[in-house]
Amino acid sequence: MQKYQTEVLIIGCGAAGLTSALAALERGATTLVVERSCYEERGGNTRWTESLFMLKSGQRNFELRDEFWGSYAENSGYHTDPDFIQEAAKDYSNWHPNVKTAAFVDPELLSVFADNIPPTLEWLAEFGVTVDMEGLSHPYFIKVPTLPCLNGGGLQVIENLTPEVEKRGGKFLFETTASELLLDDMGKVSGVKATTKNNEPVEISAKSVILASGGFQGNPQMLVQYMGPQARYLRPVAKGGYYDKGEGLRMALAHNAAPAGDWSDCHHELVDPRSGKAEALVHIYQCGIVVNRWGKRFMDECPSDFSEWLEEPCKAIKAQPGGVAYLIYDDQLHSADYQGWRYGVRSEIAPFRGETLAELAGQIGVPAAALEDTVAEYNAACVDSDAVEYGAHEPATFDFGGQATQGLAPNKSNYAKRIEKGPYFCYPLMASICFTYGGLRVTPRAEVLNFSGEVIPGLYAAGETVGMHYGHYTSATSVLRALVFGRLAGASAAAV
Ligand SMILES: Cc1cc2nc3c(=O)[nH]c(=O)nc-3n(C[C@H](O)[C@H](O)[C@H](O)COP(=O)(O)OP(=O)(O)OC[C@H]3O[C@@H](n4cnc5c(N)ncnc54)[C@H](O)[C@@H]3O)c2cc1C
Repeated sequence: MQKYQTEVLIIGCGAAGLTSALAALERGATTLVVERSCYEERGGNTRWTESLFMLKSGQRNFELRDEFWGSYAENSGYHTDPDFIQEAAKDYSNWHPNVKTAAFVDPELLSVFADNIPPTLEWLAEFGVTVDMEGLSHPYFIKVPTLPCLNGGGLQVIENLTPEVEKRGGKFLFETTASELLLDDMGKVSGVKATTKNNEPVEISAKSVILASGGFQGNPQMLVQYMGPQARYLRPVAKGGYYDKGEGLRMALAHNAAPAGDWSDCHHELVDPRSGKAEALVHIYQCGIVVNRWGKRFMDECPSDFSEWLEEPCKAIKAQPGGVAYLIYDDQLHSADYQGWRYGVRSEIAPFRGETLAELAGQIGVPAAALEDTVAEYNAACVDSDAVEYGAHEPATFDFGGQATQGLAPNKSNYAKRIEKGPYFCYPLMASICFTYGGLRVTPRAEVLNFSGEVIPGLYAAGETVGMHYGHYTSATSVLRALVFGRLAGASAAAV
């Protein structure tokens, strides 16, 4: 068996792993990063993200947008005991163990997260990882906030930080998968068991271990186990997610680590199932109707509340037969003068097209009569169809003026325009997973807690392994979570 020794051992070479390694090296510790993938594919989810940040654009000081606090507050947990919330106002060291391990967004952790965002981004600039504070803005047909993003996306983190770690003497073991924690006689984490190519066993001893191994979006068994049978229809939104198979989380749970975040949920994105491209989004379902395999509508395609546009359609679609649905629209959108809606489609594959609804139905395998009936019923419920001009002017806000269907179940709350002008078009839709919410409970020093609210000595977590989400994901915060908690975990682990 191959054996290695290091002071700080890091599982995973994404944003969380690389920042952990650099922070530990800065404090003089020896580090070793083990990574399941080969060198060329390293970086998990981080490699694929544009890396939008929930920061105010056009400013230099990395100030958080107000939605950061609003969204975390609205999605802080489910029916949290009010006494726990009161207790959480006390100094963290005095919290009852049940509060330290309760299923809610830990306010102490959230403030540590927020406070560390500006210094972490300043620190990363020293390694050439920089933020475009003007942010990405598209002439989309809906007004969306312009968010700053990493120059070069998450790939910049991977490509810049890997050589920086090497330059400082940090080591890597690629194509090596960690599977089990090792503990010494005192119950302190002392390394991991892993396997390398050809299933050859490896043992690595370490003073501390950082779990930076992402969520479990790449593990169909864990998805179904924690998220229910509908999760069998989900797949990662980009290739990097397939590497995140949840061993890091399982290793910790096997030693009574406290879970955090909603293990039954994930951040979804709506994509074209025919495309293997990263984030093959189809975000134009507001401009048509969405039917299931049987040609029936089942969701409000255009509610006014933007937050309902992100996760809710995905949840509704994965609950349909086969976990698929079909967006049906007509030539009024396709050949409209204003083509800003096309920014809502990132699939490279052209939509299905039929001169008639029956022809379109034949192409997508939906019963033609059912689709025709659904469209007729929908058209009859569109009371002010001519008033709807799909993005014919300035990008619309989320309040579209209430051009709703009447008497339809479910109603379409806005953009209720008849589908009547051929040719007709269809994008198939499925929900994909960006990342899973289920993670571990950590202290503000990124130490993993056990179920009794005690620190598991020698064990740290960073990135997606830190559970922080219940309900809706607070957008554009996941890379920040990886960078901030990676840096904190590396510093804490090196101090052991
Ligand atoms: C297409 C896409 C778009 C996104 N857009 C945004 C965005 O705009 N803004 C935002 O904030 N977030 C976004 N995200 C989410 C964000 O990218 C991730 O949540 C974040 O990068 C996760 O970083 P991480 O280091 O925790 O995990 P990862 O980057 O996934 O790294 C984990 C690493 O651990 C390795 N690993 C896993 N298990 C083992 C094991 N047992 N042994 C060894 N190695 C292991 C994996 O191979 C991987 O390299 C997006 C994600 C995707 C996929």
